[in-house]
Amino acid sequence: MTSMNILVTGGAGYIGSVLVEHCADEGHEVFVVDNLVKGYRELVDQRAELFIADIADRDSMVTILNENKIEAVIHMAAYSIVPESNSDPAAYYRNNVIAGLDLLDAMRDAGTDRFVFSSTAAVYGEPDLEAITEDTPTAPTNAYGDTKLTFEKALGWYGRAYGLKWVSLRYFNAAGASDNFGERHDPETHLIPNAIKAAVGELRELSIFGDDYPTKDGTCVRDYIHVRDLARAHLLAVNAAQAEGSVYNLGSGQGLTVREIVDGVTRVSGREVPVKIAPRRSGDPARLVASADKIRSDLGWETRESDLDSIIGSAWKWHQKDRTQMTASEGH
Ligand code: UDP
Repeated sequence: MTSMNILVTGGAGYIGSVLVEHCADEGHEVFVVDNLVKGYRELVDQRAELFIADIADRDSMVTILNENKIEAVIHMAAYSIVPESNSDPAAYYRNNVIAGLDLLDAMRDAGTDRFVFSSTAAVYGEPDLEAITEDTPTAPTNAYGDTKLTFEKALGWYGRAYGLKWVSLRYFNAAGASDNFGERHDPETHLIPNAIKAAVGELRELSIFGDDYPTKDGTCVRDYIHVRDLARAHLLAVNAAQAEGSVYNLGSGQGLTVREIVDGVTRVSGREVPVKIAPRRSGDPARLVASADKIRSDLGWETRESDLDSIIGSAWKWHQKDRTQMTASEGH
């Protein structure tokens, strides 16, 4: 791929930081827009230019797009916590739908017509299937999933009416880290970082949200995909974007229970993970596992690092590194 000027919204977040690093590694000029509400300035690769701005600020976005001759936008800025979306849907629709539309309109003003969207497996709701394909009917059971599906529908109409070239990537569970960037959320709600925190004593124990699901050990099954494998898919998608639009699942195709993840963290870290069984969490489907055959065959995507040990091993290394970094910066 020849070098492009790519804007990553939400590039100071977890997945964004790894994506920005990958784009720079591949020789692209990378620009980041992040309002730093959830993101961290120090998670933006030095090779990228960071604009602290809000995607809902159309005038600022038009200026950023024009002045930096942006050719493609990868839109990751969003709220993404399922239970929070159910208790505060207003914030989720405003940020994930309305602000997203503001961004698309800024792109129309600036004449930027290539768009890759961070979507989610949560658009499918709770299908009782071994593997979810892109043809599986969408029926979100939480507000987060509904905001992402609503925005995908808008993309379809923007493609038809305005020629916006778009791809939507439906992530299953992003996990793991690169050597330099990884997951940092406050508060942390995700399974793998919380299991690691429990292993090192930063959390008294890991709460397992429900052990009475209809799965092999009673805990929820998810499809964990290495964040670097996710990142690679985005650049393929930038290249493949067309006005007809495409939707792709991004998962490893392997379902793992919460208990299997906990065992993995114990194996990799050599430490016990203290656990307690807690009530089910609002909006959690029992099982979400992807078929990612479509992106494999259409775009030649492949997973390289999405085996359990690479995911947990990289998350473990990142946790050690990030803890040192944060302790060092607290000292200043
Ligand atoms: N989970 C858990 N304890 C935690 C965090 C998560 O038992 O502290 C479970 C959660 O109920 C779900 C799975 O782990 O079944 C993955 O949750 P996560 O929040 O990492 O991702 P999600 O699937 O919600 O996107």
